[in-house]
Amino acid sequence: MFYEGAIYRPPSEAGSLILQITVGCRHNACTFCTMFKDKRFRIKTYEEIEQIIAEARAYYPQAQRIFLADGDALTVDTAVLIKVLDKLYQNFPRLNKVGIYGGPKDILRKSVEELKELKDHGLNIVYLGVESGSARILKAVHKGVTPEEMIAAGQKVMASGLLLSCTVIIGLGGKAHSREHAIETAKVASAINPHYLAGLTLLIDQDALIMGSIQRGELEILSPLECLREIKTLVEHLEVTDCIFRCNHASNYLPLKATLPKEKEKLLSQIDDVLERNQTERLRPETWRAL
Ligand code: SF4
Repeated sequence: MFYEGAIYRPPSEAGSLILQITVGCRHNACTFCTMFKDKRFRIKTYEEIEQIIAEARAYYPQAQRIFLADGDALTVDTAVLIKVLDKLYQNFPRLNKVGIYGGPKDILRKSVEELKELKDHGLNIVYLGVESGSARILKAVHKGVTPEEMIAAGQKVMASGLLLSCTVIIGLGGKAHSREHAIETAKVASAINPHYLAGLTLLIDQDALIMGSIQRGELEILSPLECLREIKTLVEHLEVTDCIFRCNHASNYLPLKATLPKEKEKLLSQIDDVLERNQTERLRPETWRAL
């Protein structure tokens, strides 16, 4: 059997074969996230992983891209991950890209040398959920790390030579902390200087702990235009050297994509088309907001 429970992967891994080497998320405490609430975290044994690889190979021998799930599969011991990577490249002759989710704490537990070793054995990209750069917001959503720790984790991946894709959540600070969220997130993202940065919009899952804050009026959901204003502030304050910035997930009201800093002015102008030049017909409808 390939999978235990629902499986999640980053949007850019849509075409990848997903192999579940852990079940759930070790942290599993973020108030906005319900992805793994029904799963008890565990790392699969190497024997289980070998069996999954054998089954997957029988179905998809030509797989070129593989994503290692679940929530923070980078938590697996480096020596085991290396064995898994070697096994993957032995079994899938056309394989050329392996991605993985890495929680900040899992990255911090590994040395840059360990991350380099993983790269040498064929790991290509780590997906890190930064969510916010604001200490207040990270604490409020129980992310479990400070902005300084988040920066250290991101910088470690960058120092290893692995590709790093970070996500932040637009609207996570609500109306009251929107500007703080945008500016502090830009600071953390700039300090990390990742290869990819994606802004997703806060999705409201009725079962998420964050619903309590919304119901008590502590967190007010941003309107589409307020989300766009927050993205504009974020982009204005970003100081990255070569980063593909995307807000083109299904959750985003206005699909945006640019290479920063090269296309910063063009990106800001696209945002202003809606904010200042009233091209609001370009916004996607809000129907997706409530899950
Ligand atoms: S670390 Fe990621 S997967 Fe785990 S609870 Fe937080 S957002 Fe969800």
